[in-house]
Amino acid sequence: MSSEKKKRLRRPDLETVYTINEDGSRNFLHPADVHGRWQVRKDILFAFLVVVYVGLPWLQVGGHPAVHVDIPGRLAYLFGLSFSNQDFYLLFFPLVGIGFGLFVLTALWGRIWCGYACPQTVFMEGIFRKLERLIEGPRDKRIKRNLGPWTGGKLGRKAFKWIFFVGISAGIAHAFLSYFIPARELYSIIWQGPAGHGVAFGWTIFWTVLMSFNFLWFREQTCLVICPYGRLQSALIDDDTVVIGYDENRGEPREKGVDKGGDCIDCFRCVAVCPTGIDIRAGLQMECVGCANCIDACDDMMERIGKPKGLVRYDSFKGLSGLKRRFFRPRVYGYMAFALIWFVGAFLAIGQRSNFEAKSVRSSGLPFQLVGDDLRNLYTLHIQNKTDEPRVYLVSFGGAEGPEPEMLISQTRLYLAPFEVANVPIFATLLRADYPGTFPMEIAVTDSLSGEVKPVTFNFRGP
Ligand code: SF4
Ligand code: SF4
Repeated sequence: MSSEKKKRLRRPDLETVYTINEDGSRNFLHPADVHGRWQVRKDILFAFLVVVYVGLPWLQVGGHPAVHVDIPGRLAYLFGLSFSNQDFYLLFFPLVGIGFGLFVLTALWGRIWCGYACPQTVFMEGIFRKLERLIEGPRDKRIKRNLGPWTGGKLGRKAFKWIFFVGISAGIAHAFLSYFIPARELYSIIWQGPAGHGVAFGWTIFWTVLMSFNFLWFREQTCLVICPYGRLQSALIDDDTVVIGYDENRGEPREKGVDKGGDCIDCFRCVAVCPTGIDIRAGLQMECVGCANCIDACDDMMERIGKPKGLVRYDSFKGLSGLKRRFFRPRVYGYMAFALIWFVGAFLAIGQRSNFEAKSVRSSGLPFQLVGDDLRNLYTLHIQNKTDEPRVYLVSFGGAEGPEPEMLISQTRLYLAPFEVANVPIFATLLRADYPGTFPMEIAVTDSLSGEVKPVTFNFRGP
């Protein structure tokens, strides 16, 4: 048998990765079209999520984009909250909370995130796959054309598809960049052209190429090879997790005939529609992204042959085996508790963070100087306005645990723009004869708007 024919006749199994052929070449998938209730739900959700992913940077909350990370300015805005570089550690709390939230979802419903909300799925299945179907026709035609010689018609359709795919990838690249460059600014940069915006232009090209490669060729390999989440699946689910499964008791023995064997007529539709090319009848596999295509495909088939729907369905391993199922169980409570702890932690940490930072930074040079009979210390006071509005800060001497030196504060009143940083030199001078040894002193920094006072401690040093 020719290797080409062998490849064509190959069926998914548990021993090999279906998308890679024996000779190491790519087995490019052409999932069949499928219709059904889960597709309708997904299409509505995909449309909503595309609007959310693309629209979030345009949404203004408190005068700033709803989600924006300003890398050069080392700032971030998140739904009205502003974070300076000093606050980035705070993001650790909600991120871990979201991680545990995903654990809860996975323990309850398997890879529901992958099938319904991951941007890779949303754009691939919600936009690119539909466009491909429109330009290149249904699965059979696509396969036939791909195996056939390069004709003018084939080249025309492919070129048309590539132009659209690259164009939409460029759109997604711009949408992605608008999380880092304010959307309105990006919009005006687009009209001004690349001159003077080399970095932004370079990133746009980079992301466009990457997205085009991903959606034109790499596709399901992103989920199978790059994304680590699928590998976590086996550790997060158990026999009570609701996953997409095949009812073996009802379906087997599978026979090609309606009145023979079990309910599965081995029509292969559930495999033909699978975007990762697996056979769900062999059990849940790492490659399953939980898209529910096989449910709709099998329900459609059952309807046609007059059998009840649900041979492939959302159910737990226990449910599929006819055993009693539990929805909430200790593992789920555990993940929920961890998620809650981190979200409460995030809430408290963000709620308690200060609107400004004041600290001492070491000045360059000697820690002290001898000037005649005097001993002089030079300090630098670092102040950062961590709000997105201008503020005035007052700097004053707060006392010393020892002889009081003569203080020279270079600026006692500072106007700082949003997120601006200032370094204030401070000189403290003491008669050398009065120096009792190292002793602490305090500088008070007051936010004139909120009245919040921050004491900063310096040590007066001498020989
Ligand atoms: S097995 Fe079913 S749910 Fe899993 S990826 Fe394939 S079609 Fe989607
Ligand atoms: S779609 Fe249903 S009937 Fe057809 S092969 Fe799959 S499980 Fe069997």
